Amino acid sequence: MKIALISPKGPLYRRSGIFRKSLRYMPLTLPTLAALVPDDLGATVTCIDEGIEEIDLDIDADLIGMTVITGTAPRSYELAKRFRAAGKTVVLGGPHVTLVPDDAQPHADSIVVGYAEQEWPRLLRDYSQGQLKERYTQRPDLDLAGYPQPDRSVLPERRFLTADVFEATRGCVHNCSFCVVPSAWGRKPLVKPVHEIIDDIRQRRAKRAIFIDLNLIANREYARELFEALIPLRIQWYGLATTLLCEDVPLLDLAAASGCRGLLMGLESIRSDNLAENHKRFNHPDQYGRLVEMLHDRRISLQGCFVFGMDHDTADVFQDTAELAVDIAIDLPRFAILTPFPGTATFHSLDSQSRILSRNWELYDGQHVVFQPATMSPEQLARGNEQAWRYAYRWRNIARRLLHTAAPLHVAATTNLGYRYYAHHLDRFYNCDWMIATATPQLRSGSDNLSQSAPPELVTIGDGDE
Ligand code: SF4
Repeated sequence: MKIALISPKGPLYRRSGIFRKSLRYMPLTLPTLAALVPDDLGATVTCIDEGIEEIDLDIDADLIGMTVITGTAPRSYELAKRFRAAGKTVVLGGPHVTLVPDDAQPHADSIVVGYAEQEWPRLLRDYSQGQLKERYTQRPDLDLAGYPQPDRSVLPERRFLTADVFEATRGCVHNCSFCVVPSAWGRKPLVKPVHEIIDDIRQRRAKRAIFIDLNLIANREYARELFEALIPLRIQWYGLATTLLCEDVPLLDLAAASGCRGLLMGLESIRSDNLAENHKRFNHPDQYGRLVEMLHDRRISLQGCFVFGMDHDTADVFQDTAELAVDIAIDLPRFAILTPFPGTATFHSLDSQSRILSRNWELYDGQHVVFQPATMSPEQLARGNEQAWRYAYRWRNIARRLLHTAAPLHVAATTNLGYRYYAHHLDRFYNCDWMIATATPQLRSGSDNLSQSAPPELVTIGDGDE
């Protein structure tokens, strides 16, 4: 059996897109899926990440599996159509398929809903016996212990900044309205045994590790166990956590002692009413400056992420947010436009108010406006987001932030230069068939097909797996 595993990308993230190699780390989805292929099937596995290489449309494979996030759904469906026309069997899975399985089902011979650990091998065995089913759904009793480590050799390591990427947990305990995690996988995080993570790090002889976990401290007891186990490795690591880490000083100290040198945190908004309305009350904008100080005191740098377009954002929010990011010296500020991923509470709320302007999933990438904002026009929101990026990454403002950075200066400078490039070229990607004011009817008619198959109810930082 010949299997091809593909991670399609939207225009922004394709090999020809805006991100450079320096900003990419190896995503774990394809290595994880490849490792789960049962040995006794004698299958050959080819993996293609469209972020780093072109997809061969004539690829020699019997079965093609694609991992789909909402922004890549149209690309995945287009590829699926071509592959199926050529007689290949297509399987779709991933966050978008889990959120809106009925949207994906017509485009595939089979779909996997939920995590793949149990269902992907089951699907492959069924396929090998000519008994492929239309849908495989993760069982509620899934336990992540005892599965093979991701096979990172299936992707070309040299094409990435690093392949020392690890995943200890999945899911989150919180319920932020805009987040795909609670909608797709519920609020009970799964964890891998700590010794399996430590073994993986040791085997790779990693000196620096990236944890892609969406919230590494979702289970505090587990986080403590993991951080303690990391100390003897004497590595430096980077990951994601909520601002709550800075309210648990012993855990923060333990993270620092275990080698934490950088965290991504969703600060989301400088307006408390936005945070309250989106079920993220545990973020306190008046404490953001103190939070950065606490991290910097422990040599931990911060990638602080903000979202624009929540209902209490007014026209001044862009400049206020960007100025705050510079004033409090966030090492690497990031800004995004609120994206109402299908299936989330945010999507339901906006849809019930008839404020969804487009169901063209390709525009659901954090950089396009797909809904009617409450207090401004879609254009104002799009331009305001750009304005914030440009302000935070002006030379002068980079220099002001670098004066206080917790990261080694060359690292901070390199990452800031990468983001400056992004900030000043973002507009180049606003031409992918969208001009919300003029094209809305076209986008709407294009989306009707999708909305018919989507259930009435529906993604990671960076280019992780989402
Ligand atoms: S946004 Fe972060 S804290 Fe909120 S539910 Fe998602 S992963 Fe958890």
